[in-house]
Amino acid sequence: MSVQVFGLPVSRGVAIGRAVLVASSRVDVAHYFVEPHQIGAEVDRLRVARDLVCHELESLKQEVQGDTPAELVALLDVHVMLLNDEVLSSATRQWIEGRHYNAEWAVAAQLDALTRQFDEMEDEYLRERKSDVEQVAERLLQALARADRASTPPVMRRSLTVGHDEGAPLVLVANDISPADMMQFKGSVFRGFVTEVGGRTSHTAIVARSLDIPAVVGAREASRLVHQDDWVIIDGDAGIVIVDPSPMVLEEYRFRQRQGQLERDRLARLRSRPAVTLDGQRVELLANIELPGDALAALEAGAEGVGLFRSEFLFMNRVGELPDEQEQFEAYQAAVQSMKGLPVTIRTVDIGADKPLDRLSLHELRHDHTLNPALGLRAIRWSLADPDMFEVQLRAILRAAVHGPVRLLVPMISHPTEIRATLEAVARARATLVAQGTPHGEVQLGAMIEVPAAALMVQRFLQHFDFVSIGTNDLIQYTLAIDRADEAVAHLYDPWHPAVLALIADTIRAAHAAGKHVSVCGEMAGDPAFTEVLLAFGLRSFSMHPTQLPSIKQRILRTELATLGRLAQEVLCAEDPHQAGEAGARRARATSGAGR
Ligand code: PEP
Ligand code: MG
Repeated sequence: MSVQVFGLPVSRGVAIGRAVLVASSRVDVAHYFVEPHQIGAEVDRLRVARDLVCHELESLKQEVQGDTPAELVALLDVHVMLLNDEVLSSATRQWIEGRHYNAEWAVAAQLDALTRQFDEMEDEYLRERKSDVEQVAERLLQALARADRASTPPVMRRSLTVGHDEGAPLVLVANDISPADMMQFKGSVFRGFVTEVGGRTSHTAIVARSLDIPAVVGAREASRLVHQDDWVIIDGDAGIVIVDPSPMVLEEYRFRQRQGQLERDRLARLRSRPAVTLDGQRVELLANIELPGDALAALEAGAEGVGLFRSEFLFMNRVGELPDEQEQFEAYQAAVQSMKGLPVTIRTVDIGADKPLDRLSLHELRHDHTLNPALGLRAIRWSLADPDMFEVQLRAILRAAVHGPVRLLVPMISHPTEIRATLEAVARARATLVAQGTPHGEVQLGAMIEVPAAALMVQRFLQHFDFVSIGTNDLIQYTLAIDRADEAVAHLYDPWHPAVLALIADTIRAAHAAGKHVSVCGEMAGDPAFTEVLLAFGLRSFSMHPTQLPSIKQRILRTELATLGRLAQEVLCAEDPHQAGEAGARRARATSGAGR
């Protein structure tokens, strides 16, 4: 029977596919696809582990014979029987052969399937056998880990990138996915994803948007209501996940998929048109990127530069060392050269909070209720806490500036002492390059305005910077004290909050008064609902995911600034800014004739 799961829509579009459940069982294991030629070896790994557990159980039985209660011996017999039973052994093998899961994932997937069957049983005695299956599965997983340790060098973290591409399309359903893991979606087999946790501007959601993969987060019941291999529709516009849809619903969504593609094709034709309002005001549209390779997508979308290169993604998905100066330099240089003379804004590393360096630490963060990582050592605080690491990055950025215009952007500045420390670090990095005789270039220095303290002090902060970029995702989080990654308070995360709008408007005004460049690079810049309001606030530079660029451009092409008139004041003074913003934008479109 078809069921619906509700969550938050975070990445637009419709995805249809068979569900792949990750880590829904109580055991947290590595999940990755094995290459087709490795399937035999993976089945062997499973077999070796099973033999190991069998041997262990038999030895245990020998040891406990004699004065041990007969029930315990019988239990061990049950475990041996389960281990060799078709429902565990051959069904687990099936996950490897049919779906190309690694052995641990296959065990966890089969454990999930069996647990559900046990839960549905009427007979209490049988229902209680669930714990036996769990214990056997756990032994198997431990044996797999032991066998790995004994036979191979430490295993590199493997990912969900490779996978079989034959058969039905797949969608991923997980409790949580780290931004680092999301990055590996690029080119992967998954057409969409659903998580049980996360907010609209959690970094996982942001990466999904940048990859243009339909996604729903905060779908709390997903792992319970979606079963492995179920057909699932992900409606990334409405935030709905439809499990086991009827043929009629399926056809409706396939129609919407086709419509979406037609709309994208139509918007793509705007690529080479400059973003100019109906009354001739030029607006700069920049791209947010995560990796140097994204620069191509930025150019293809018609971006006039990179407004935000989130450099922290170079630091993720690595085993061991952080990237050294040369590796970073090459990455920044690649982005700068790809942009062919257009400016590239490289943000210094913004690690911490919901962007840990690896998946494990995300897990730990989520389960450490004594810490508040969003208020902890992240972004510039992280960099200043490790001056050597910071200067390595600064030198790499300064060196990349030889190859094209580079803007250096510092995240989450909130205190004047941080400004001083940052300027000193930049000066030291430059002095080292001069002393070495290493070629380097001039960079413009900018601050992200994403903490209320910075927005309130922007006039004074601007004395030290060439430009500012408003990070609305964090500005909302810190102004409203709403963790952007926490679905429990997602309904309170409100970009239309008067305090947020006032801080944005004031920052734009202060930057213009100081004659400095200001841009918005948070998610509001790529959301058409805010285009008119931001234009009315005086914003002339928007930075967003390349995929969002065409629809924002279309909005700008249809806007006549003169018709926005009092919109800024109306929104800032309104009881209900959301309603005032929408009404004003509608009025402007009607007056300019764009709605017709
Ligand atoms: C922001 O906070 O708005 C921003 C652009 O930075 P990030 O989303 O990477 O924190
Ligand atoms: Mg931010």
